[in-house]
Amino acid sequence: MKQANVIVIGAGVAGLAAAATLRATGRTVLVLESSNRVGGRAWTVPIAGRPFDLGATWLHDAERNPLAQIARDHGAALVDADAVRARRLLVDGRPATPADHAAYASAADRFEKLALAAAVAGDPALADAVAPMADDPWLATVETWEAAQIAAADARDFSVRDWRDNALDGANLWLVEGIGGFCGRVLAPMAGEIRYNTAVTGVNWGGGVTVSTSTGEFAAASCIVTVSTGVLGAGAIRFDPMLPAAITDAIAGLPMGLLTKVAVEGNWPDRLGIAPGTSLRQRVTARFAPAMSFHCWPNGHDYIAGFVGGPTAWALARAGEDATRDFVRARFAEMLGPDAAGNITRITVSGWGSDQLHRGAYCYARPGRAGARAALGAPLGGGRLIFAGEATRTDGLAGTVGGAWLAGVEAAGLAA
Ligand SMILES: Cc1cc2nc3c(=O)[nH]c(=O)nc-3n(C[C@H](O)[C@H](O)[C@H](O)COP(=O)(O)OP(=O)(O)OC[C@H]3O[C@@H](n4cnc5c(N)ncnc54)[C@H](O)[C@@H]3O)c2cc1C
Repeated sequence: MKQANVIVIGAGVAGLAAAATLRATGRTVLVLESSNRVGGRAWTVPIAGRPFDLGATWLHDAERNPLAQIARDHGAALVDADAVRARRLLVDGRPATPADHAAYASAADRFEKLALAAAVAGDPALADAVAPMADDPWLATVETWEAAQIAAADARDFSVRDWRDNALDGANLWLVEGIGGFCGRVLAPMAGEIRYNTAVTGVNWGGGVTVSTSTGEFAAASCIVTVSTGVLGAGAIRFDPMLPAAITDAIAGLPMGLLTKVAVEGNWPDRLGIAPGTSLRQRVTARFAPAMSFHCWPNGHDYIAGFVGGPTAWALARAGEDATRDFVRARFAEMLGPDAAGNITRITVSGWGSDQLHRGAYCYARPGRAGARAALGAPLGGGRLIFAGEATRTDGLAGTVGGAWLAGVEAAGLAA
């Protein structure tokens, strides 16, 4: 049986961080990955001859995001996305007026005040926290942005404290090669031995650790598990002894949100007269109504990225890729006109909702469960079994690649 000091399950950002950190302290590490690639929810594919991130796109909070420094150290090209971003708000297909912008800004301000006050008093759902402004015609737009688009969450099932604690701040950087590309080029070599196409089915952590996989058994003194809460909740990995209630409750308190990202290509010789980096949002007229945002020609590339999140994304994932494409075409026509939509030539749809190795985009805490992230990250068996990943981050970077990296580093310290 192959042995290592530590076995890391999953070669996403958290798994690569844990392995790289342990290797740097002289421990032997083995990373077991079910798929045939590294990066997990960071995955770059070519679209129109350029990198397109199906998952993680920006290095958020760049000032305290460790991946920004690692990228610089490895000569990666970084672009300050905020410096080139222009925002366009559309109301029933027309550009928003100054009065629309003022009403939107005032609603956003009221939303934030209500939500922050509710988070001090308790931990209700974000939607309940902002219910006092239900008569504001811009509430649905702000709420869609804050819950479905940013947090991939359903505002009716989303802890207001988790919303508050993970609100992102600071600069947003693009990695020109794509975050998935960067994982393969820079982070994977730091992590050492990675066994691909090796699906973990069981972890026995009674004495030492024995891990059962599709390709055999592996032994170690401790094990770091970085799969998503969706994978854990589905019971894809059997634990023996069974996980304590504190952990199973935490997993149940952290359901997966869904953000479906699409790449839209078309026959538009003048690029629709839109400057690269422009993001398009639409006014949402009813709470929880379907909506999308688009990001045009990111980094000058020849495609438009689209985002649909929350319950709408889950409904579309169940309906299938063609239904998603129809939805994207309809929103595109609403925002950019039927002629522009008619010239779409291809829509590539990310499939995080149906992907059994991730089962969603990133997790959010349910109302009253803001403490679930810390509970999931608490080591078991004196450090023999540790859960780590975007879900376990409690410093405001949950749901991000920067948070996943830090969670992996911290788990490595606990295991060592
Ligand atoms: C559409 C989308 C947009 C996003 N945008 C951003 C963004 O702009 N910025 C940002 O910072 N973050 C973003 N994120 C979130 C970010 O991608 C994640 O927070 C982060 O990648 C999670 O890393 P992880 O290592 O915790 O988990 P994962 O990436 O899920 O890694 C877990 C690994 O475990 C593997 N695995 C699963 N089951 C098994 C098994 N049984 N045996 C062995 N291996 C297994 C998986 O294949 C995977 O490689 C986005 C995500 C999505 C989906």
